[in-house]
Order: sequence, then structure tokens, then C-alpha cells
Amino acid sequence: MTFTELGLKEEILAALSDLGFEVPTPIQQQAIPAIIAGDRDLVGLAQTGTGKTAAFGLPLLSLCDPQAKKVQSLVLCPTRELCVQIAKDLVNFSTHLKGVKVVPIYGGSSIDKQVKEIRGGAQIVVATPGRLVDMIKRRMIDLSNVDFAILDEADEMLNMGFKEDLDFILSQTPETKHTWLFSATMPKQVAYIAKTFMKDPIEVTVGSKNSSASTIEHSYHYIHERNRYDALKRVLDVNPDIYGIIFCQTRNHTRDVADRLITDGYNADALHGDLSQDQRDYVMNKFRNKTLQVLVATDVAARGIDVDSITHVIHYQLPDDVENYTHRSGRTGRAGKEGKSIALVNRTFKHKLREIEKIINKPIEYKKIPEGVDICDVQLKALVNQIVETPVNEKAISRYDETLASAFASLTKEEVIKKFVSQSFERFMSYYANARDINQPLDGKGDGPGRERGRDSGRSRDEGFKRYFVNLGKDGGMDPGSLIRLICDNSSATGNDIGRIDLKNEFSFFQIKDEYSADVLQGIQGLDYRGETLNIEESKDQSPEKRERSERGGGGFRGGDRSGGGDRGGRGRERSGGEKRPRTFSGRREDSRSGGGEGRSSKRNFSGKREESGSGERRDFNRRGQRHK
Ligand code: AMP
Repeated sequence: MTFTELGLKEEILAALSDLGFEVPTPIQQQAIPAIIAGDRDLVGLAQTGTGKTAAFGLPLLSLCDPQAKKVQSLVLCPTRELCVQIAKDLVNFSTHLKGVKVVPIYGGSSIDKQVKEIRGGAQIVVATPGRLVDMIKRRMIDLSNVDFAILDEADEMLNMGFKEDLDFILSQTPETKHTWLFSATMPKQVAYIAKTFMKDPIEVTVGSKNSSASTIEHSYHYIHERNRYDALKRVLDVNPDIYGIIFCQTRNHTRDVADRLITDGYNADALHGDLSQDQRDYVMNKFRNKTLQVLVATDVAARGIDVDSITHVIHYQLPDDVENYTHRSGRTGRAGKEGKSIALVNRTFKHKLREIEKIINKPIEYKKIPEGVDICDVQLKALVNQIVETPVNEKAISRYDETLASAFASLTKEEVIKKFVSQSFERFMSYYANARDINQPLDGKGDGPGRERGRDSGRSRDEGFKRYFVNLGKDGGMDPGSLIRLICDNSSATGNDIGRIDLKNEFSFFQIKDEYSADVLQGIQGLDYRGETLNIEESKDQSPEKRERSERGGGGFRGGDRSGGGDRGGRGRERSGGEKRPRTFSGRREDSRSGGGEGRSSKRNFSGKREESGSGERRDFNRRGQRHK
């Protein structure tokens, strides 16, 4: 089938030819003929990357009356990024259509400017729900002439809590309009919207319902929690050309993983809700133009990221809501390209794989975490390739011919090659030379926070750790997993930074790496946990038994002894109970972000960076100091 057969206007066909679109994608082949007459509602089940923007955008433009300077079509989508992208696509499709005006409406940008644009005669408005509701309430926009309402990524909009906004917006549009709803998945709420608000919609599905693109290969590595970050590094190291997104469950994890990767020399940065719009734009621009190789993101922040040619999606942790797996992995394997979705899974979350397999309708293949030798092989090849491919500026370098010849006179060609390669590769090689196998046996023995951190585990991680007392124990519903989640969700620490956990009936103790202690204290202090206000205090006494005895004899939780001495405990409470200080962590992020110059360019040099990231030795070398020079 060709675009000509779909009944589109000549001007649109000309634009498609400019864009190099030759054959309609399956969703376009099915949806366009169904809605081009403008007399039907439609439900389209399709992932991003399938060409769905053109599937609704081309008919929308064909049906647009350029003479009528009023809002005729409304496209609603979940995020600012997607909003801008859709508007851009529509503008590209309409370059030959005279008088058609498309305006994107989203938060974080001047509302007055956007209103002016609409009043300048826009026929198509692409909007995020929050900003549009604001405009409607302030009577800045008139939706009474809308003929077509498009809900793009409807499942995402509902996930993000926009249901009421959508109801309100749609109530401002005429009953007679037609609605086209697109969604990657079909949860109950979306089916409800389709059933309740749409008139006999045509249903168009690309692939099976809720399934993911066929070009995505899904796999998982089975890990022990403490090896999660190392496993991630190995995945990155064995894919030197990766251009990918690493998904984490929380903002804190996102920040932490990105920060560790940056410190370890990877070309990574974080995208999460704590960043200002300018910071998000800055990171996204770097990622879009491929200056940034790895984006570490939360599910929410990554919504609407519309970047082609992403090679890998890595699930550092599986999403809480399994439906999100489809959205995450749908960021790769776009427009027919191949993509890989790799999950790092421990025993606790392994059961989720079955649920996800049901949703994507595909198996998620178990794969071993690559061993050191495999990584070295790949890295060596990449390095050699890079050297071979490096263009030589004969003219500029010829003036050094003699110098080079005499400098290397005592070496054979083979020796020179080995020395050059070793110079870049030695540290990397020695880091992985004795690297252990970090694959967790598939029977899962010994994994899982409960077993790992149980009192009888015999693990002692006192060195480099601080010990804390928490005023909640087993009787208050605390268990090791909940405590770990509580810490990880409210600080930049990860499971790997938590040491021994001792659970008592009425209270508990946990150890946390020194460098995270202030952050954890600040993050948890005073939080509400199942109706109890958490009190956390540093414990100087490292012996659980001694501590327990003193707790029993000591009365209330705020006793000086318990908090490691009255003064110290008092100060601790005062400090953490007061105004939250900005985390040193975000300070570091800011610094590294604005670092620019030397640090940035050194990170861009990916092969240079790889050895650094791999090398234990290089971690001592003050990269941050360098960056902030
Ligand atoms: P979408 O699912 O709308 O985000 O589209 C994914 C990517 O495929 C975008 O880069 C589009 O420009 C591109 N695309 C959409 N339709 C076609 C087509 N028929 N031929 C070639 N590329 C297309």
C-alpha cells in the first residue's frame, strides 16, 4: 500500500515525500482509511515508534480547514516533550498546506505567549492536560469548535493522574466531535474511557494488545542485590556503542546511579522530576544530539521521550507497575530498528518477569552477566577499531615524522602497537582480570534481602558503616525488605550501601555506609510509617545485644545513651528535625552538570573513559577534582 491510496491531500503527500516516508506503517495503513472521512471514532493500540503520530496527524491535517481561524482539533498528550514532538511532526507534515497553524501548549513556558499564538488563528492545538485546564479556567481558549479530539498515550495520561483533567477538558468540547484515542496498553481505565465517551469506535491494533515491538529483544540478568551496580557496569562495558536509557524506580536511585556512573567516568546523566525545566531540557538536548550516551531516568521523567535509534533500555530495577515495562522498553526498537531491553532482577522481584511476559506476550530470556574476559575482548576490539578508523591528518602530522621515528627507533612495530594498546587498555584489563562471576545461581539460594540481611547471616559490614537506631520493629510491621525500601526510597543510598539489619520487636538497627548516613538521617527522620512517626538516631554501640539491653533498661527512645550520647543525640534531632538542607548530592549533580569544558570533553571520549570506569585504581584518581578545576 502507498500513501497515495490513503486519500490524503496532495500537499500532504508532497510533505511525506520531502520527509522520505515511502510506505505507510501498519498503524497508518489501518487507521488512516478508517478516519480520513472524519466521521468515525477510533481506538488505536500502538506503541510509540510505530508511526502513530502520522496515523492521526495526517488525517487531522487533511480534514483541517485552513480558512477557519478557530481551534478545530485538539491533541492531548502526557508530557511536554511529547507535546513539542507531536507539534513538530504536524508542522513537518503541513509544510505545503497554506494557512495551517499548529500550536503546542504545555507548562513551564509563558502562558501569555501561548495564548497569543492560539489567538493568531491556530486550528490545531497540541496540549498537556494541566496547562490546558489552566487556560480553560482562565478563559484563554475556546474549545467549542473542536471537531476532533485526540488522546495520545491515553494510558500514560491516566497513569499520571490526569483523569479528572481529561474529563474536564472533554466536557468543554462539543458532543458532535470525534475522538481518536491511542494507547500502548489497554488497562481497564482506558477501556472504560473508550466505552463511555466514544461512539462505536473502530479498533485498530498493531501487534497483539499490550504487546511490545517485535524488533525488541527482551532479556534479564539474575543478580544478587549487592551486585546490582557492578552488573550494570558490565552491561555498559560489554556494549561500548550503547545509546541507551537506564530506568530506576525512584528519583533517589536515578540520582545515585547517574552520579556513580559519572564518577566512574561513564558518559551518563540523570533525568528526574527534581530537575528544573531548564535542566531537563539541557540533559535531553545532550541525549538527543548524542553527546550523552546514557540517560538514567525515572519512569515519569522519561515519559514522552521520543528519540529514535536508542539501542538499549536497561531496567536497573523493574518498575513497580508492570505495565510500565512496556513503556520503558518501547523507547527502543523504534521505526523497525532493533533494540534490546535488559532487566537486572534479583530473587525478590523475579516473579514479576512472568507477569511482564504475559503483558508483552513474549518470553524474557535469561542471559548470564558477561564475564571479565568477554568484556575485555569486546573492549579491545572497540579500541582497535577506533584506532584503525581514526583519520590521520597527514599534512599536520608530517612535521613530527622525524621526531616520532627517532622516539620509536628502538621498538619494533609489534612493540609499538602493544604499548599503544596497553596504555589505554592495561588498567581496564587488570580490573577485569580477576573479576569474579557475579551471576546469581538461578535457584536463588542466598539471595533476597531477608536472607542476606538476616541476623544469622553472619555478615559483618561494620567497617565504613554507621549504625542507626529506628523506633520501629517487628511489632510495628517492620521487616528487612521494608526497611531497605524505606531507606532507598528516601535517600540516595541503594541496597548495596546498607549493611547489617537487626530487627527487634519494638525497634530496629541498620548500618549504612558513612557517606550516605547524613542523607539517610535527613531522608527518614520524622517520616510517617504506617501511622508512626519515624525517629532515627545514630547508635555508637555496635553490639546488638548490648544495645538491646540498654534499650530495655533505658525507657523512652530518646534517651541519650541510645543516640550515642545526650549531646550528640540532641544535636542530631535538632538538625534533622529542622529545615531540610539541600543534599550535597544534588550539589554535586549541579556541579557536574555545569562543569562543561575539560571534564565534559574527557567524558565524551568513550574509549578513554572505559578504562577509567573499569579500573579500580582509577577511582582513586580525582576525576571530580579535575572536572571542577
Ligand atoms: P511515532 O510512532 O509517531 O513516534 O513515529 C516513530 C518514528 O517513525 C518517527 O521518527 C517518524 O518520523 C517515523 N515514521 C513514521 N511513519 C513513517 C513512515 N511511514 N515511513 C518512515 N518513517 C516513519
